[in-house]
Amino acid sequence: MSEILPSYLAGSWRSGTGAGAPVHDAVTGELVTRVSTDGLDLGAAVAHAREVGGPALRELGFTGRAELVKAAAAAVAERKQELYDLSARSGCTRADAKVDVDGGFGTAMVFAALGRKGLPTGNVIVEDEEVPLGRAGSFVGRHLLTPRRGLALQINAFNFPVWGMLEKLAPALIAGVPTIVKPATQTAYVAEHAVRIILEAGVLPEGVLQLVSGSVPGVFDVLGGQDLIGFTGSAATAAKLRSDPAVTHRSVRFNAEADSLNASVLGPDATAGTPEFDLFVGALVTEMTVKAGQKCTAIRRAFVPKDRLDEVSDAVSSRLAEIVVGAPGAEGVTMGALVGLDQRDDVRAQVEKLRAEADLVFGDPAKVDVVGADDGRGAFLSPILLRATDRSATAPHRVEAFGPVSTLLPYDGVADLVGQVARGDGSLAGSVVSNDPDFVRDAVVGMAPLHGRILVLDRDDAGESTGHGTPMPQLVHGGPGRAGGGEEEGGLRAVRHHLQRTAVQGGPGLAEALAR
Ligand code: NAP
Repeated sequence: MSEILPSYLAGSWRSGTGAGAPVHDAVTGELVTRVSTDGLDLGAAVAHAREVGGPALRELGFTGRAELVKAAAAAVAERKQELYDLSARSGCTRADAKVDVDGGFGTAMVFAALGRKGLPTGNVIVEDEEVPLGRAGSFVGRHLLTPRRGLALQINAFNFPVWGMLEKLAPALIAGVPTIVKPATQTAYVAEHAVRIILEAGVLPEGVLQLVSGSVPGVFDVLGGQDLIGFTGSAATAAKLRSDPAVTHRSVRFNAEADSLNASVLGPDATAGTPEFDLFVGALVTEMTVKAGQKCTAIRRAFVPKDRLDEVSDAVSSRLAEIVVGAPGAEGVTMGALVGLDQRDDVRAQVEKLRAEADLVFGDPAKVDVVGADDGRGAFLSPILLRATDRSATAPHRVEAFGPVSTLLPYDGVADLVGQVARGDGSLAGSVVSNDPDFVRDAVVGMAPLHGRILVLDRDDAGESTGHGTPMPQLVHGGPGRAGGGEEEGGLRAVRHHLQRTAVQGGPGLAEALAR
């Protein structure tokens, strides 16, 4: 697979022209593919979604479309091994690939179940209660939700090529909105294969799912008020895209999931030897090493009571020393590679910014022992633990090193903790690890306005906990401020995001009559 990676546009697979952007194997450095959309008619894909995909979807109604999503998820589940194998080329261990692949089809199946059970058969959802608008009761108002008549353009980050695609696709399809997927260049070949699996299963009507393997020049120019953009990626790209006239002048509905300096907090009660201390240390190591730390929800800032820094540093370091870095699938390997050498350069540069204000506790950014691969060719990096004792340090609250990197920070009481957490300017996920209900209440209530999701972890819920870094399809994923200010998932909220809410005024029972 080293020719130009195909796109699926207007009913057929087509490849761009020119040399394309090379994509290399994260482990061996070999060329995997090239990515280009030069010469492709992307405007025709937009028209195809609107004219062919949209009407086909709207014929099915909500529950019929939920069945489509179930079938698409089942198709991916059936061929998951192919996706695990490809994901290894992007540096993922089997466990990492499962987070993306199983997480992806699992999320789509949850959406399908919610849609089948919780939505009507037609295309109209009646919301809220009837509101009387006149004295005699002959004139009332109510809200209706109907499918937008445009398309959803999803622009995804490199780290979750399958999950990122399916968690956006499922609610859009259930809502009745066709989708164009634009994966990130570095892992576009994994997303391409997932799309191919779904299309080969023959479960979706034509025009409902298209794929652009590469950049999307001119597409924003033809988007309008019935369309949606769902973006996941860095805050810098989010800022650029949300200032496009498509969003600012033509009101394309824009949702951003951006980066985030997520915090985890060790409670004052959680001294060494308590279950909560071990849970905190274990969660931090997990979040640093799963997908080599390339997770938007990973713990970047680990807050500990100020007199506990030494014991936490020691405990985390000894757990990190057990991590074996190397080729996915090689004997004993527990952490794979970053997605590519450019990404490793970027993480190293960010670590240098952090080191200007924090000390290195574990790991060497320039050197790592690697199993089963050539460390000169693959994008390997040691887990890096830092520690900032100076409370005026700014870098830990500003700099995202998108790799296996986390910083320990001291806090002195809940007010100080909340003030410091706020310096991250809004996050996707936070966690409070404590068995003290008073501390938990003060910390969670203080941190809640700064977060899209907060996990409270203790000895009683740990057995069933889904973990700090795992967004759940039933619950909101997103966060304020730097995290993008958007919301994804959240069960049927994500479906409603793709619908238009219209206040309908008239006689009593009008809304129900319209929904029949
Ligand atoms: P990125 O560089 O911002 O790219 C994200 C996506 O935007 C890619 O598909 C990229 O395409 C595309 N893009 C860039 N410029 C564009 C333009 N002018 N027009 C249209 N599309 C454009 O981010 P990344 O490096 O892939 O991902 C890492 C970042 O994503 C991290 O900061 C991480 O925290 C964040 N992230 C957030 C979440 C979340 O749910 N909040 C999830 C995962 C990752 P190309 O690759 O083709 O340039």
